Amino acid sequence: MIDLPSDCFEYIDCPVCGSDKHAVFYQGCYGDFKPKTTVDYTHIGLNKRSRLSYVQCKHCGLVFSNPRVKLEYQSLVYNECKAAKYRDGGYEINEAFLVRERHKKIAKIQTLARVLEHVDVTRPLTMLDYGSGFGHSMSVGRALTIDAYGVDVDAYRVRMGVDQGLKVCLRDEFDQKYPDVIVDIVLVEDVIEHVVDLNRELSFIRGHCREGAVLYVNSFSQWAMRRNRALQNFQQSSFIEHLNYFPVATLDRLFRKHNFEPIGFRSSGMLQPIRKVKLWLKLCVVEKSPYLGFCRMRSNYARLYRATVV
Ligand SMILES: [Zn+2]
Repeated sequence: MIDLPSDCFEYIDCPVCGSDKHAVFYQGCYGDFKPKTTVDYTHIGLNKRSRLSYVQCKHCGLVFSNPRVKLEYQSLVYNECKAAKYRDGGYEINEAFLVRERHKKIAKIQTLARVLEHVDVTRPLTMLDYGSGFGHSMSVGRALTIDAYGVDVDAYRVRMGVDQGLKVCLRDEFDQKYPDVIVDIVLVEDVIEHVVDLNRELSFIRGHCREGAVLYVNSFSQWAMRRNRALQNFQQSSFIEHLNYFPVATLDRLFRKHNFEPIGFRSSGMLQPIRKVKLWLKLCVVEKSPYLGFCRMRSNYARLYRATVV
C-alpha cells in the first residue's frame, strides 16, 4: 500500500465544522475495491496500491473522503477519467434514448412536484439544477414553463443538454454566462456526495437564490457507508467520486451555515410502516443481518430547505 496524496490530492479539515479531529472510518487499497473498468484514474495519479481513506469528523459526524482530489483536478475525474465510457458506450440523443430515459424523467416529475408544494406557482418561476446530468429535471421544469438553468462538471453531459436546447453549462462558466440569474427553485439531486468544496458550492448556489427560494437535496446518509463497510463492498461507493456522507443533522448544519433553513420535509428512504416491517424481514433473511438491513433502509434521504434572509 502506498500513500496518497499524489499532487492531485490533499488533506482537508471537516468542511462542515472545521474540526481537524477525525477518526478513520474505513481505509483500503484502491485495487481492492473492484474498480470499474470504464474509469481510468491514472489521470489523477492513482494506481491499485494507492491507499484511500474515509474519516469521520469527531465533532459533527460527517463521513468524508480524506485525502480527496483537489478542486483544480476535479474536472479530470468526470471527463478524462471517463473518456473510455463515452467513447465505447457513448450516448446519442435520439428517440430511442429519450424513451429509454423516460422513467428517469418520471422520477424527476415526482421530485419537482414535492418542491412545488412549497412555491407560489402562480408567478413566473426560475430554477437552477445543480449537477444537471442529462438534463431530465430541466426538461421537466421547461415543460412546466419554469425558466430552467443547469450546471454540471461533465462536459459530455453539458453538450448533450445544449443539444436539447437547455440552458446548461459547466459550473465554472455559469457566473460569466448567466451572472444575473436569481432562482426560486434549486435542485441538488444525487450530487452533494460528489462535491469537492462544499462551502464554495453552497455559496455559489445561495448567491443565485432569491430569498425564500426552495432547495431540494438528496443523498446517501452515513448509513450507506456503514453498510458498505460491513459488507466490505465499496464498488458502488467510489472513493474518488463519493466524498461526503451526511447524518441529517450535519447536513442541516451545513445548510444553515449558508443561510438555508430546513422546512420540514424529510424522507429517510423508509417506506410506509407495514411495508417497512416486511422489507426489514426480507433484508434480514437476504443479508443475514438485521444491522445491514437497517443500514439499507436508512441509506438514502431527501431534504428541503428555504433560503433565508441574509
Ligand atoms: Zn465536522
